[in-house]
Amino acid sequence: MGKMKLYTGEEIEFKECPGCSYAKHEFVLPCGFVYEDDSFTISQDWELPIPGFLILSPKRCVETLSDLTNEEREKMFFLLEKTMKILRNSHICERFDIIFEEKENRHLHIWILPREKWMTELVGSVIDHIGQIFSYAKDNLRTPQNFEKIKEITDIVKEQF
Ligand SMILES: [Zn+2]
Repeated sequence: MGKMKLYTGEEIEFKECPGCSYAKHEFVLPCGFVYEDDSFTISQDWELPIPGFLILSPKRCVETLSDLTNEEREKMFFLLEKTMKILRNSHICERFDIIFEEKENRHLHIWILPREKWMTELVGSVIDHIGQIFSYAKDNLRTPQNFEKIKEITDIVKEQF
């Protein structure tokens, strides 16, 4: 059992692992899936209202990169690069920070974080201060304009996939 606040501010509860719950469509985001197949999903970050911040996640509940099969890893990198290329070619973002977080007892996922001007203005190095950026986003970016922008960007990537 756990709770999570979606990027919209809505609180949801999940029974087991949020990654598994999302893969089974037990909760959905208002902007929908960017991409989905048998083994992976790509979506707006569930919690953070940062436009263009996408999450690539395997459907299988694994904790580490090594737990994926070679085939899955190949597919994951193909999807990662394709997503970044679409964002770049659509002039949504030029540079990214890509983060794999292998947390204990957590469903592996990749953060595709666009490096925006406001982030470097706020903290300098994004990686050094990622928590500060996320707190700022939660406190300041839950606005109707941003929700619209999130929908716009996810639709663009969806269409081009
Ligand atoms: Zn899981």
